[in-house]
Amino acid sequence: MYKFLQRLLQLISELAAHKKKPECACCGRCCESFGGHLATSPRDLERWRREGRNDLLSRTNRLGWIWVDPQTKEPLERCPFILKTDEQRSVCAIQDTKPDICRDYPTLAHGRRCLSGIIF
Ligand code: SF4
Ligand code: SF4
Repeated sequence: MYKFLQRLLQLISELAAHKKKPECACCGRCCESFGGHLATSPRDLERWRREGRNDLLSRTNRLGWIWVDPQTKEPLERCPFILKTDEQRSVCAIQDTKPDICRDYPTLAHGRRCLSGIIF
């Protein structure tokens, strides 16, 4: 019995290891929908200061909301860093230093879902 259970557990863990996680299709729908209504984390602000990213800091309002117009501080309709590569795909132009909230997608602010229903 012990051996049987041991083998069963081994099979389950092998199956879990081989199960391929669905990948983000980079359709950009989540960025298009939520990119204008996000918030920075203290870590983001600290990192952008360290990296000298005044372009990003100027697009953050005093409460930490992103993204805003650098001059008027009015919220933008859409994230200014969505880069469309073709009809179906988009990439993030600030991938290396994008805000934590984008890195942790889908957060509560995104309704914890992939808008295309592909992942998560
Ligand atoms: S909506 Fe889903 S598939 Fe599309 S970019 Fe966002 S996470 Fe990826
Ligand atoms: S910063 Fe990048 S990941 Fe975040 S909404 Fe904009 S394009 Fe998407």
